[in-house]
Amino acid sequence: MTALADRLTEHRAGITAIDVELGRPGMAASHLVVDSGRAAFVDTGASHSLPTLLATLEAKGIDRSAVDWVLTTHVHLDHAGGAGALMRELPNARCAVHPRGARHLSDPSRLIAGSRAVFGEERYRALYGEILPIDPARLFVADDGAKITLGDRALELIHTPGHALHHYCIVDEANALVFSGDTFGLSYRDFDVDGRAFIFPTTTPVHFDPEALCRSVDRLMSYAPRSIFLTHYAEVTELERLAREVKERVLAFADLGARHRDALDRSSKLRHGMFAMISDRLDAHGYARDGGERHRLLDEDVEINCQGIEVWLDRK
Ligand SMILES: [Zn+2]
Repeated sequence: MTALADRLTEHRAGITAIDVELGRPGMAASHLVVDSGRAAFVDTGASHSLPTLLATLEAKGIDRSAVDWVLTTHVHLDHAGGAGALMRELPNARCAVHPRGARHLSDPSRLIAGSRAVFGEERYRALYGEILPIDPARLFVADDGAKITLGDRALELIHTPGHALHHYCIVDEANALVFSGDTFGLSYRDFDVDGRAFIFPTTTPVHFDPEALCRSVDRLMSYAPRSIFLTHYAEVTELERLAREVKERVLAFADLGARHRDALDRSSKLRHGMFAMISDRLDAHGYARDGGERHRLLDEDVEINCQGIEVWLDRK
């Protein structure tokens, strides 16, 4: 595991991206937001991220009692798997959750079963370990447009279906920024070329909905943010281009699914097709690394994305 200092990236507006090293370094972030001595975590990684999150507070001189919020953008386990363990260490925090996610945080059994189905038992254990429930009295169930306060900062929680029906994003209008969870897609810093970000959508089972996802991206952009903070991974700018590209790729993924919908070997056609499609876009982006490195960085997402597209095809 990398030293703590090397896992923290300081951003503007009191934001620190913490690499929770879920899967591999640079794959999943928890964001710590500090305003006037009060703090919030946006997404938590899995339970084994807990020591890293607590060490970050300590390194920054923030008492655990100064954390007011654990904001779980949605209940997928790379975002909220560690929320139960974290809440036990934060005496004053409330955990904000979408109305459709609340029961999964107070009783994670169905979430655990769903994730085992997506990842397989062995990978599930390696990634997520134990998931602890949260006392329902400590949940803040966020309706669309809910306003919360962190220090002197106003935050708005808006519902953004498309990746998951239980997804919300966090808008900080005064600072012109958004925390997008998985709604704005994935942008690993490994794919940056000359400081330019590469982006693609995440279409995890079981709620992928291409039209809704594109509308949610538009809704984020309607706030005219200067930065979006992605759980996978951290700050991106150049948002007009990235919004256009992520929507184009959502539709391209949906088209790929539609094209192979009735193929006998649908599953393998989808996986090859998606890897080739992302790889082509990487070529156009100017990314120079070879197929081995591309497979290392993309295979898990391709697998999960294709599972999501198959669930969507079967539902349609
Ligand atoms: Zn997700």
